[in-house]
This record gives sequence, structure tokens and C-alpha cells, in this order.
Amino acid sequence: MRAFQFIYGPRVMSGTDGAARLGELIPDGPCLFVTDDDIIRLGLADPWLAALRETRDVSLFSAVEADPSKATLLAAVERGRAAGATCVVGFGGGSPMDVAKLAAYLLGSGDDLDAIWGVEIAQGHRLPLVLAPTTAGTGSEATPISVITCEGGVKLAVNARALTADWALLDPTLTTGLPRHVTAATGIDAMVHSVEAYTSARLKNPISDALAREALRLLSANLQTACDDPGNLDARSAMLLGAHLAGVAFANAPVGGVHALAYPLGGLFHLPHGLTNALMLRPVLEHNAEAARELYSELAPILDPACEAAGSQARAASFIDALGQLSAATGLKLQLRDHGIREGDLDMLASEAMKQTRLLVNNPCPIEEADARRLYEAAF
Ligand SMILES: [Zn+2]
Repeated sequence: MRAFQFIYGPRVMSGTDGAARLGELIPDGPCLFVTDDDIIRLGLADPWLAALRETRDVSLFSAVEADPSKATLLAAVERGRAAGATCVVGFGGGSPMDVAKLAAYLLGSGDDLDAIWGVEIAQGHRLPLVLAPTTAGTGSEATPISVITCEGGVKLAVNARALTADWALLDPTLTTGLPRHVTAATGIDAMVHSVEAYTSARLKNPISDALAREALRLLSANLQTACDDPGNLDARSAMLLGAHLAGVAFANAPVGGVHALAYPLGGLFHLPHGLTNALMLRPVLEHNAEAARELYSELAPILDPACEAAGSQARAASFIDALGQLSAATGLKLQLRDHGIREGDLDMLASEAMKQTRLLVNNPCPIEEADARRLYEAAF
């Protein structure tokens, strides 16, 4: 066995009584509650805020936007500082959770944000932190990474163990109201996390493999039910746990080509992260089919037990097909042209994808600019 290292994620509390139990997970004292305006408008946070306010002052910061900016993060930190916050709760999708992680760190450590971008530069102590995801997708509650959009649209990340939350609170009732297309796109994103962690070129290991396999099993078996029967708590719980396990897996075995080609679609066309991964999934897996044949063939029976007896090439092909069919069955439109992208944009997308070197190195085989152009064409 190859030498490896693995870092587990936060402690986990899972159940439908998250609102009542949140208070047990954080110390006494004023709390900074980070979320977004949609969540407040939908009333999703109401019982959580009400329960917290019974025992402490709560400072609500709900101005987090998609792809949160540095200004937003610093405003959240300022709110927490003014309130004398002694703990932070991040409540929402990836954006509020990313802001909450860094706000807890900056409030606790007093560090200067511009001094801590990068991997394991942040070495201070954050405030106690609980993250409650409201989508089953990003796995941000499981990871030590926070991505912030800085001057000129440049995305910078802090990736440091100090950002790993104390607790991930997985409450499936938070996800039952998601619109179908959000359930679908975020669920496919989580499946991509599990597949890309399993095929991650440098850092995959037996523990990330085990988590990725179980994540893929939970996600693939429940995605369709979660889409068709949104109130089904068993399916929602399985999706939330699957997304979390995939998050712990890819925090150790980072994602590759699908995400590398998905990012420019988010950066240049502002498509949601989950959707961009759904769009690029099939073309990139087909590109990887030969290099990742053994690995895809190992995963194939999770989606289609009947393929067990086939050879590795047939199994890998069946795996890619089954994932494609699963994605299509959610009803998402899976062509770039359906989302406002024109053929004339493909060159620019391919050139932009080449900047994602930190992701491309994790892909099982190289993706050059000409490959990327061809893969966008295939997705078009
Ligand atoms: Zn993702």
C-alpha cells in the first residue's frame, strides 16, 4: 500500500431536530449567524434563530451572495466583531458556509485576510463554528476550504485545517423545500465530488476511496427520489450524508477535470456551480475513460450491479453511461447551448480552463487546451 495521509472532517450531528440541538453545539455568548437573504425570505432559518435567541444574542448576517466577495466577508467579520461574537454558525449552501468559515477564523485569530491565502498558511485559532448545509451538494461543511471572489473577479482560497468546523449539522428537513433543478444540480455536483475523489491522481487513498464509494452509493440511489418526491426524508437524509462523505473524501483527494472545466462556466457566465459540473460530467469522463478505466470499472457496479461480470472496458463504459442517464433523468438540460453559451465562446472557455492548474493536476490524464476545446464542443 502506498504511504498516505488522511484528515477527517468535523464532528457530525445528523437528524431532523437540528434547530433544537444547535444551541448544544456552541458555547454560551453572542453568536454570529451567517446565511443569505433567500433563506431568510423562505423562513428556513426562523426556527433555528428562534431557538438560539432563547439563550443568547444572535447577530444575523444574511447579505451573502453567490460567489461571495471579499467585501461581503469583511462586512460579516465587522458584524461579528461589533457584536462581540464568541461563536459562528454558517447556515446555507456553499457561499454562506464559506463566509462563515473564514469569518470565524478572522474573528478568532485576528489575522489579516491578505496574509493567509493559500494552503496551510492560516495557523491561528478560529471561533467555535457550526455549519448546517441547506443543500446536498457542495460538501463545504466538511472541508477546510473557503473560496472568496476578490478584486477583478479573481477567486482566492484559504485552505487550512484551522477552517474545519467543530460540527457539521446535517438536518434533512432543511433540504425538502429545494426546487427540483437545485436538488438535481447540487446532487450531481456531489456525485462528481465522489467520482473525482476516487480517481484523484495524486492523493487518493484507501480512506478517501471508501468514503467516495459510499457517497456515490447513497447519492446515486436517492437522487431521482429526492427530485420526484421532494418531501421524502429518507432520500433527503441519504443525499445530505452522501454529499457530506463526498466532501470529506475530496478534502483529502481533490477534484479534477470536471471541476476544472466547470469553473470557467461559473466565472464567465455565472451559471450555478452544480449545474456547471452536470454539464461537463459526461464529456470529461469520456476523455478519461482509458486512463481511469480500472477505477471507473470498480465504481460501475454501484450504479449497475448487473455489469459485475463484464470486462473492465465494458464496465467503465457502462459507468459513464449510467451517470449520464442518471443526470439526464433529473430533467436538467445538459447542453451548454441551453444555458446561453454560444459556439463562439468555446475557445475562450478552453483557454480559461487551462488556468485551473490546481485542479487539472488531479485528473487521471492530462487535459490540454485542444482537449478542453473538444470537450466543450462535446458539451455544446
Ligand atoms: Zn463541486
